[in-house]
Amino acid sequence: MTRTVYVNGNYLPENEATISIFDRGFLMADAVYEVTSVLDGKLLDYAGHEARLQRSLSELGMANPCTAEELLQVHRDLVEKNGIVNGLIYLQISRGNGGDRSFIFPDAATVPSTIVLFTQDVPDLANPPAASKGIKVIAFEDLRWGRRDIKTVQLLWPSLAKMAAKKAGCDDAFFVMDGLVTEGSSNNAYIVKGGKIITRPLSNDILHGITRAALLTYAAEAQMVVEERPFTIEEAKSADEAFITGASTFVMPVIEVDGATIGSGTPGPVAKRLRELYLSEGRKAAI
Ligand code: PMP
Repeated sequence: MTRTVYVNGNYLPENEATISIFDRGFLMADAVYEVTSVLDGKLLDYAGHEARLQRSLSELGMANPCTAEELLQVHRDLVEKNGIVNGLIYLQISRGNGGDRSFIFPDAATVPSTIVLFTQDVPDLANPPAASKGIKVIAFEDLRWGRRDIKTVQLLWPSLAKMAAKKAGCDDAFFVMDGLVTEGSSNNAYIVKGGKIITRPLSNDILHGITRAALLTYAAEAQMVVEERPFTIEEAKSADEAFITGASTFVMPVIEVDGATIGSGTPGPVAKRLRELYLSEGRKAAI
C-alpha cells in the first residue's frame, strides 16, 4: 500500500510528495524532528513530544508552520488514512527553502518552514522479539555537537554508531564522553545496581527523552529508587541490569555491554517490570 504523507498542508501519496533541493534541512541539517508512537490507534506521550518540538524550534529560532491543534489533527489524520494500529509517526520541520544555498537564515516572514509528517506501520511495536531476548550494545565515542538537548536531524554520528554496532554483531551503541555514558545512539541509557535505577541527569549532553520523563514518573509512583547521575562503561559492564528507553523501543533490556554479559544474559526483573509499567500506564494516558 502506498503511504499517505503530509507535506506543507497537503496529504499526498508518498511518491508524489516533494520538497526543494534548496531546502535547508537537506543542505544544512537545519531541521528538527519528533517521533511519536501509536498503540491501538492512539498517540503515546503526545503532549511531551509536542512540547519538546516547540522547545527545539524555539532554541533554533525556527517557526512552527502549524498550530498545536493542526499538528494533533495531522497526526490523527495520518493514523486514519494509513490504517495504523501500531506504528510510528515522524514529524520533520526545516527552516525551509531559502531560494539558494547560503549559511544565512532566510527571512522567516517571507520563507515558511517546511513541514513533513509520515507514518511507519509496525504491527509488533509493543511485542518485538528483542524485548524478550534483550539487545547487545557496544561502547562508542560521543563525538556529536554540544546541543544534544535539541532534537535535530543531524543523525550522521548515531548512524555511524549503529553501523559499528551492526558490524560487531550488536544492536546498538552507548555513547561515551569523558569516560561516562551519555546516552544510547537513539535512546536514553540506564543501569540497575542493587535495585537502584541509575541514569544520567538532564543537561545539554543528552536528549531529554519523553519516554524517560514518563518512565521516571511511573517508577517514582511505584516507589522504585532512581538515582540521576552519570555512570561509566565499566559500571555498566558489572551492573545487575541495563536497559534503554525511547519512543520506538519503550523500555528495552540490554544483555551485553561492550562484550560483557549483563546479569544472567537475559532481561532482568527491573527492566521487565518497567517495560510493563510503561506500556500499561502509557496506554492509559494515550490520546
Ligand atoms: N536520545 C537520543 C539521542 C534519541 O535520538 C532519542 C530518540 N529520539 C532518545 C534519547 C529518546 O527520546 P524519546 O524517549 O523522546 O524517544
